[in-house]
Amino acid sequence: MRLLILGPPGAGKGTQSDKIVEHYKVKHISTGDMFRENIKGGTELGKKATEYMDKGLLVPDSLVNDMVMDRLSKDDLKEHGFLLDGYPRNISQAEALKDMLTKLDMPLDAVINIEVPSKFLIDRITGRRVCPKCQRSYHIANNPPKEEGICDYDGEALITRKDDNEETVKNRIDVYDNETKPLVDFYTKEGIILNIDGTLSIDETFESIKSKLGK
Ligand code: ADP
Ligand code: ADP
Repeated sequence: MRLLILGPPGAGKGTQSDKIVEHYKVKHISTGDMFRENIKGGTELGKKATEYMDKGLLVPDSLVNDMVMDRLSKDDLKEHGFLLDGYPRNISQAEALKDMLTKLDMPLDAVINIEVPSKFLIDRITGRRVCPKCQRSYHIANNPPKEEGICDYDGEALITRKDDNEETVKNRIDVYDNETKPLVDFYTKEGIILNIDGTLSIDETFESIKSKLGK
């Protein structure tokens, strides 16, 4: 299965992606995670990306598109399928993706659009804590780890993402409204969008995704 997950920052894309990947055995491709790994590794790409990420702005399309094309070209995806998370973020990236997938003969099966009104997002993001090793996200109130501040899966100390502060979050929500939201129309016209109510609990949201995607 070849999937894409859309939604504003804090909608629960990463959280639902972990569940989708486990259930449907597809490969998770998160551009945000890829940039954070590059930043941690001190690569040239990481150095360029961090300037934009710290301000809540989009990293330039050329950098993102090249990174995604490299990943999509790897053989494992033909067999396992994939879930794209955090890409595309604007119409130009969506056009680039369409070209890449046509070239690779791997068209998308469905676009999962997680709908969450803005008023929920700031609390979700400022309460987010992530594992620096496996990138899983928790929430201090809604989805706490079993032991406070520690990842359930690998025992690492959880951290707050540098861009998860109130000021940057407001920019990221504006960027979403202006640049990313038009993709909902783009994929609605392609006839492959599945709209999901992301204000439900994490488990209810996942049940709703499964009921629309099929078991
Ligand atoms: P995104 O990848 O879309 O930015 P995350 O999956 O990281 O979002 O979720 C953002 C925050 O909201 C995290 O702290 C997560 O634990 C929490 N969260 C995710 N889904 C829900 C939900 N359905 N209800 C309440 N909190 C949620
Ligand atoms: P969130 O989980 O809050 O939606 P992400 O982890 O997907 O955020 O992205 C964090 C930051 O990484 C973005 O604010 C942006 O600066 C950068 N980024 C991630 N994916 C893209 C992309 N496809 N195009 C441009 N910038 C991106």
